[in-house]
Amino acid sequence: MAETTIFSKIINGEIPCEKLHEDELCLAFNDIASQAPVHFLVIPKKPLVSLCECLEEDRDLLGHLLLIGKNIAKSKQLKNWRTVINTGEESGQTVFHLHIHFLAGRKMSWPPG
Ligand code: IMP
Repeated sequence: MAETTIFSKIINGEIPCEKLHEDELCLAFNDIASQAPVHFLVIPKKPLVSLCECLEEDRDLLGHLLLIGKNIAKSKQLKNWRTVINTGEESGQTVFHLHIHFLAGRKMSWPPG
């Protein structure tokens, strides 16, 4: 289980966010330090540390997070975007509450740094 992170504080309303979507399972909001013209995060309300901690029982939740992100991207008329899940410190994960980045609005390079 995730310890208290900035994202759990956003979920319980202690810290504000630019909310794009909320339902019983997840929250989506703009990233505070955008790395692209569009950059938002989709996070589960369940306090999962990262993808590494996800179990078979989280299958539907993981699908839900992706589909919610896709719906938001499409509502912004996007046809191209990048989806990123950093898992672990070396990958670049800085907030240890599972989150999916959706980035768009500029040409992306590959491989990522
Ligand atoms: P990570 O590096 O994959 O863990 O991504 C964490 C993301 O959370 C970064 O892109 C941060 O800019 C973002 N972030 C951190 N604090 C906040 C906040 O308070 N509101 C919105 N985004 C945040």
